[in-house]
Amino acid sequence: MAFLSRGGRLTLIRAVLEGIPIYYLSLFKMPIGVAKSLERLMRNFLWEGLEEGRKDHLIRWELVARSIEKGGLGVGNLVERNKALMGKWLWRFPLEPDALWHKVLKSIYGIDVNGWDAQPLVRGSSRSPWKDISNGFYLFLECCSFAVGNGEKIRFWEDKWLEKDDLQTLFPRLFRLSCKHNEKIAGFVDCSVFPNNWNFGFRRNLNDLEVVEFTALSAKLDGARFYNTRGDARHWSLERDGSFSCKSYRSLLANNIAFSDFGPCEQIWTAKVPTKVHILAWLVAHGKVNTCDNIQKRRPSHMLNPQWCILCKEGEESVDHLFLHCSFSIQFWWRFFKDFGVSWVIPKSCYDLLSICFKCGGRGKKKKILWSCRMLAVFWVIWLERNRRTFDNVPGLCVESLWDRITFWSALWASVTAEFRHYSLSALMLDWKAVVS
Ligand SMILES: [Zn+2]
Repeated sequence: MAFLSRGGRLTLIRAVLEGIPIYYLSLFKMPIGVAKSLERLMRNFLWEGLEEGRKDHLIRWELVARSIEKGGLGVGNLVERNKALMGKWLWRFPLEPDALWHKVLKSIYGIDVNGWDAQPLVRGSSRSPWKDISNGFYLFLECCSFAVGNGEKIRFWEDKWLEKDDLQTLFPRLFRLSCKHNEKIAGFVDCSVFPNNWNFGFRRNLNDLEVVEFTALSAKLDGARFYNTRGDARHWSLERDGSFSCKSYRSLLANNIAFSDFGPCEQIWTAKVPTKVHILAWLVAHGKVNTCDNIQKRRPSHMLNPQWCILCKEGEESVDHLFLHCSFSIQFWWRFFKDFGVSWVIPKSCYDLLSICFKCGGRGKKKKILWSCRMLAVFWVIWLERNRRTFDNVPGLCVESLWDRITFWSALWASVTAEFRHYSLSALMLDWKAVVS
């Protein structure tokens, strides 16, 4: 356990610390204190391992906890995960009218005025799980949209079926005048007859202001269409296929829209490489690898020499220098791009290098796999060589033999994917172009 790489620790966190509580999280509300201590366990384990002493937490936890599309590792955030999992019951309730749990909830709490859900338990001292689940009821409803069928389940004024807003908000005067509150669309119109003949049940004749609203409402209703053959349905508006997913709900709860997208996400996480290599590339993209300048920033009192790069023995050791701009490292990049026949200019940062979508000469799947394996192998080998020279105090290897290692690692990682199962490792190492052509 002590020598587990960060990739191994991430896998363990996903499988154990995050996986085990799922069962409880999907029905019961997790106490904040428990969530916080579990997250602390994850955080410390990811960065420090077990009993290895204190180590630097290279990236703040809020960022780590974001989804990988937003630059994190997608672990943690147990409170939001808990809420999203409990939301699943709200979604399932109207879909499973014959299930025992549905009947039990219905008999205890009754059906909400909207006709779909069990009543949310707003007050009361009951400690039932339903109290915690229905806590998120109104936010949940915001994410539902309606698909109108025969109009027998959707309320005319109160549900958002025609516009983004409900009709009682858009036409408040008419709503007050109508005596058909909480009534379904089918009570307003005979859906099988076209053109539709609406009956709003107004209590008196309309005045001038109300006529203006009425004209606008009629114009909107002209666009309404009904389908007698199918019932009304409710869709989950956060997913394209309209069905609920915890992932989309969790992403909404974590307010993921507020964060900008992480450019290198695809390049890093779709590559078929070991997780430890993913993590290194992820750290490089964030500029948070423990290079001399980063360590110096963290420990201003220590006498380090960030102005000296061990590979080229001239420039300063920063992340972008070490992995990209260094006169030693850049030779790998020239070889890399030449090998794939891609012309390039040196990007400003590793973040840019990983974000740019290069066209590696046609978009064959095999070539793409080799491309991403090779690219991350360059980062990996540079980092290993830097550490070897820094800590083992040995003479450095030349560019040629390091390039051989890059070729070897990338071929090895690629060779275990399904796409290359019919090819030998040596064929991939010696002439990958013949393999993909
Ligand atoms: Zn250098």
